[in-house]
Formats: sequence, structure tokens, C-alpha cells
Amino acid sequence: MKTGQQHIAGLRDGRAVFIDGKRVDDTTRHPAFRNAIQSVGKLFDFAADEANRELMTYATPGGRANRIWQLPETFEELRQRRVALEEWGALHAGFLGRAPDHVASCIAGMYMGLDQFEAYDKDRAKALADYYTYARDRDLYLTYVIINPQADRSKSAAQQKDAFLTTGVVDQDAEGITVRGAKMLATGGIMADEVFVTCIQPLQPGDEIYALSFAIPMNSKGLQILSRKSYEESSQSVFDNPLSSRFDENDAVLYFDDVKVPWDRVFVYKNLEMCQKQFHATPAHVYQNYQAMIRLSVKVRFLIGMARRIAETNGVIGFPQVRETLGQLAAEGGMVDAFVAAMEIKGSHYGRYFVPDRHTLYAAQTLTQQLYSKILNTLRELAGGGMIMLPSSVQDLANPEIAALVEKTQQSPAASALDKVKFYKLAWDAVGSEFASRHQQYEMFYAGATFVTKNHSFRTYDWDSAGGLVSNMLSSYQLADELKTSQAA
Ligand SMILES: Cc1cc2nc3c(=O)[nH]c(=O)nc-3n(C[C@H](O)[C@H](O)[C@H](O)COP(=O)(O)OP(=O)(O)OC[C@H]3O[C@@H](n4cnc5c(N)ncnc54)[C@H](O)[C@@H]3O)c2cc1C
Repeated sequence: MKTGQQHIAGLRDGRAVFIDGKRVDDTTRHPAFRNAIQSVGKLFDFAADEANRELMTYATPGGRANRIWQLPETFEELRQRRVALEEWGALHAGFLGRAPDHVASCIAGMYMGLDQFEAYDKDRAKALADYYTYARDRDLYLTYVIINPQADRSKSAAQQKDAFLTTGVVDQDAEGITVRGAKMLATGGIMADEVFVTCIQPLQPGDEIYALSFAIPMNSKGLQILSRKSYEESSQSVFDNPLSSRFDENDAVLYFDDVKVPWDRVFVYKNLEMCQKQFHATPAHVYQNYQAMIRLSVKVRFLIGMARRIAETNGVIGFPQVRETLGQLAAEGGMVDAFVAAMEIKGSHYGRYFVPDRHTLYAAQTLTQQLYSKILNTLRELAGGGMIMLPSSVQDLANPEIAALVEKTQQSPAASALDKVKFYKLAWDAVGSEFASRHQQYEMFYAGATFVTKNHSFRTYDWDSAGGLVSNMLSSYQLADELKTSQAA
């Protein structure tokens, strides 16, 4: 198993990361990224810890691997894998949206659907199968970019002003293909070993050069990583911004400046249908989003724990209306947990593999996309000004004169002045900071815009069963019978 230090050392690979007008020499030491990278290192250390061997790893033909790569064949194996993912998620309270378990789940799901790739092209299927084994055995951290950059969404990829705004093929030879163009958004990209690049959005005839699927190292020649603003760098301290300072996983636009991809890393080549099938005809889409729902259940639990702590800190926990609010939140948290359990219990086999229930997953995504903002709003309502009436930074606490005033003005029936300040700094970082706001956007969009998740829910619901109930009810009475009865009367 890879340790945190080994993972971090592997990131010093000359990758081309740009932020604030400069190219970064070493992301692992840069103030915009280093703490988040350390947090990922802790995930690898946890999985490599001998004490967590059973919890976090499973037997493979070559030894043992992280359960994120496991291919469950039974309900029990699926459940074991979920417990591992939950424990990992708890290390970041669900704030690393694209921790290494996300894309590993996608690639594992694709591998489960290898028959779909074999029916399409034997060479591409072999490339995918070899890649799954390669990534699993090296415990790689993968990110993915599966969305074309926003420009004019009313036009296809080929119809955009610049034919290579979207990543497409410019050349091919015996060794591989050459790609040019952009993709959004590589969350975790600066901390990942490799990137899986494809298109999940429906493409149209004429878009064939964009209908690709491949994986390459983040330090590939010509791959440019354009970071957004770092919330880690603008955090004043861990005490002031406990989440932003340590879990800002970063999002980046990737630009492929004529990047060469060898054939043994190409899984789909200029095929519109296979681009969709790789996600939806295999268990890939379900597995990647099932992981996301496990992570979200951890995060929702964390936020609900925080809601109760707010009520206790402010001495309002005894008010009936506040208990109702907490009861509503608890019900919503229970619903998210129940969704995870239900998708497992209602799961079914795809060949040898046990796969969570598709519609239950899409129902969960549709509803939680709306739920996350609602939960944040409830936390704001409960907290009032408590998250704002805070010392400006730890420096205030280092000054005895100001610290004495903080002691005097920060009071609570449940916490010391210092504990209250510490807690509310955390609450603001989860609910109201720039980091928190980005998380709200993330939970609304990571699985696609709401019209996309609602369409998945529409397409996978058991309409026959629902419609059958309506038909049965309609056929249980007839106008002719009614008229006969009323005439006889
Ligand atoms: C924080 C964050 C992290 C992300 N990380 C990743 C990542 O790691 N990897 C990755 O590949 N992607 C990532 N994404 C991208 C994410 O997958 C997309 O944001 C999502 O798929 C929606 O696409 P879009 O942003 O282009 O929005 P659009 O598709 O442009 O939609 C925006 C809005 O426009 C309207 N709209 C657009 N098209 C239609 C339509 N056809 N019908 C009706 N209404 C429409 C809707 O109101 C919709 O909500 C991330 C996004 C965010 C915000």
C-alpha cells in the first residue's frame, strides 16, 4: 500500500500548474496547495496502516489493494467496501469531493462492464482492463474531466467558434493520438497522479473528434493545469479557517496543448455511442455516484452535528421550535443514510458484480442537490450572528488585552469563550466562507446540472409499475356498468 509520503513525493513530477500568474515549481510546498496535499497524504496513510488492513484493503491476485478498487460480487462485499469509504470520508468530513475513491469507483465500474468494451473494440477493451490493474496495483489517485468547457451551450462541440476549445483529436499515428483543447474541471487535479479524460455530455454527429476516453499522467508533456483561486492560500490560519486551510481540494481547467496519448491508454476513440455507453451501459456511472452519495452522507451527518452544537452553544436547544428544526434536519440526514442503504439492498447483479440500484441512486442525487443548500440555510438560521461576531483572527487571541475582551464578550452556557470562538470559526468555514460557497456549488453541480439528474431519474424509474397501478384502478370500474346500474335503479 502506498503511504502518504510516497504519494506526496510522486507529485513532485514537473507537472505544469499555473496560479496567480506564475508556474508552480512544487505544488507540495506551495502555500496554495500544500495543506490539502497533506490531507490526501493522511488518507493514504490511513489505508496503509496495518491496523486498518481488513477495513481498508482486500485481496487481489498480486497481494492486497485499497478497497476503492474492489469489484464487489455480493451484497456483503458491497457493504464492506462502503464501510471503508465511509471511514475514509470521515477523515475529511466529506469535504474532499474528489478524494481518490471517486474516480477509482468510476474506473472499477467501467471494468465491471468490460463486455461492453469488448463488443465495441477488443484493443480498447484490453487497454481499459490493463489500466484498471495498473492503477489498482499502484494505488493511483485519479481525477477526471468529463465535461466540455462552457462557451455556447446552445451549440455542439464542433459548432463552437474555436474547433479546439473542446479537447479533440488533432492527429494519430502508430503510437497513439494527439489531443488539443480544454476540459472543465479537474477537481483534485493538482493532487492526483493521473487524469481520466472523456465526455459524458451527449455529443452529436459531427462531434466524433471529441468522442474520446483516455487516461494520462498529470505531468504529461503539453498538459497545462490552470488553477482557480486558492482558498487555502487566503486562509489566515487553521484556527481561523479549519476547513479551507486543509481541505481545499482545488478545481482546475485543463488545457491539452497537443498532448500525445499512447494507444494503450485510449479506451474510446471517435465513437459517440461508446462515450455514453462507457458510463451508462456499464456500472461506472452508478459506482462513481454511489461513492459520492456515501461521501455526502458523511458530510450531512457532520453538518447536522454542527446544527445541534450551535443550538447548545446559544442555549436555544430547549426551545420547541429549535427542537423541531433539529428534528427536521435529523429526518433529512436519516433520508440520506436510508438512500445509501436502499441502493445497496435493492442492488442487483451485472454479470458477476453486485451493483447498487440505479433509480434509487438518481432519486438520491436529485433530492440531495436541492437538500444541501436547504441544510446550509437552516444552519444560518440557527446560528444568527454567532458565526459573525468573532475575533478577526488568532492574532486577537495572541494579544492579552484583546483576548481579555474576547473572554468577556464570547459567552455560552455550553462552552468556554475560546471553545465558542473555535467552534463558530469552524461553522462559518462550513457554511458561509468562500470555501463553503464553493462546496454549495459543488453539491449542486458535481453530478451534472439538476435537469441532468432529473432526466436520469425519469429514464430509470419503474414507470410500468406506477402506470400499472393507475391502469388497474381505471379498469376496476366501467361507465357502461355504472349506467346500467343507474338505469336499473
Ligand atoms: C465545484 C465544481 C467542481 C467540479 N468538478 C468537476 C470534476 O472534477 N470533473 C468534471 O468533469 N467536472 C467537474 N465539474 C463540472 C460539473 O460536472 C458541471 O458543472 C456540471 O456537469 C454542469 O455543467 P456546466 O457547469 O457546464 O453547466 P451547464 O450545463 O452549462 O448548465 C448550467 C445551467 O444552464 C441551464 N442549462 C444548460 N443546458 C441546459 C439544457 N440542455 N436544458 C435546460 N437547461 C440547461 C440549466 O439551468 C443549468 O443549471 C465541477 C463543477 C463544479 C461547480
